[in-house]
Amino acid sequence: MIEEVIRAINNAESFFLTSHLNPDGDAVGSLLAFNCFLTEQGRKTTSFLADPLPNNFSFLTNSDTILNSLKDIRGGSFDVTIVVDSTDWKRTGLGSDPMVDNDLDLGTVINIDHHESNDNFGHINIVDPETSAVGEIIYDIIAASGLPLSLDVAICLYTAIMTDTGNFTYSNTTAKSFEISEKLVKIGVRPDKIAEEINENYPISRLELLRMALDTLEFSDDYSVGAITISQDMLKKTNAGPDIIEGFIDYPRYISGVKIAVLFREQKEGGYKVSFRSRDAIDVSRIAERFGGGGHTNASGCSIEGKLDEVKPKVFDVIKSTLKEDKK
Ligand code: 5GP
Ligand code: MN
Repeated sequence: MIEEVIRAINNAESFFLTSHLNPDGDAVGSLLAFNCFLTEQGRKTTSFLADPLPNNFSFLTNSDTILNSLKDIRGGSFDVTIVVDSTDWKRTGLGSDPMVDNDLDLGTVINIDHHESNDNFGHINIVDPETSAVGEIIYDIIAASGLPLSLDVAICLYTAIMTDTGNFTYSNTTAKSFEISEKLVKIGVRPDKIAEEINENYPISRLELLRMALDTLEFSDDYSVGAITISQDMLKKTNAGPDIIEGFIDYPRYISGVKIAVLFREQKEGGYKVSFRSRDAIDVSRIAERFGGGGHTNASGCSIEGKLDEVKPKVFDVIKSTLKEDKK
């Protein structure tokens, strides 16, 4: 499979690189790893994210070349398209059929992901749920290519792995995550500097928003579920962008006894984006799937239409029945 990807890359000149909506560190790091790697090989790359780049990833090389507007890519024609970290086409924000919706000729589509629920939408698919981050898979691809792995690429891959493992604390953290990270550090990656860029570089608006969000903290009767809510009003008041919310859901998750943490995020166009986090074997991807979303065992999400007083009870009901089933 990796050989197939290397062959497709070797035979191509122009590349379209993209990932999912609300891009996280794995999405951005994996996309830019390819961007840097291919640019270093003298290839033409066009990078696209349908949502803006979170500020704390702007230190990554070539992050300033990522396009965010569909207008800028309409009518584009590419030999190869590489989609990273995205379960399906819809998650890229490019429409269900990019050819029809945005007049894009994507060429050979390579889908590289680590979500169990990936629907294999590419011509070539590498989906490995055993990996902590797509960054791990890209490391293997570049290593197998025999081409050099530069410091710029190493920093992108380390960012992908560090963020998707929650700074090497989540249950997806494996010996392989550390083995690859060791190789990246040997290339010159400074874990302290990257942690500083990503985790210690927030604008004041993040803390102002967090203060408001924590005011909404609520629990189920038995304190096994903790939830916080972020409204459009809060985002307006603090002048905070949506990317600033990254990590807020960990606050209810950190509480002893809480099995499932939930974050309700009001969308501009109405409705809610709902995120779930869990511990151990409690599978929150099943909960998200009930609402048309998806994700991993311990981290998942979905979008639900309606007002908060309709959305919340629906979510709590599904969580309750899931926890009950798990007890059986
Ligand atoms: P987050 O809560 O950080 O937005 O997302 C956590 C994980 O849930 C993501 O890595 C992704 O796998 C999954 N996820 C979040 N929202 C959605 C969604 O709307 N659809 C699908 N299929 N997966 C989602
Ligand atoms: Mn990922």
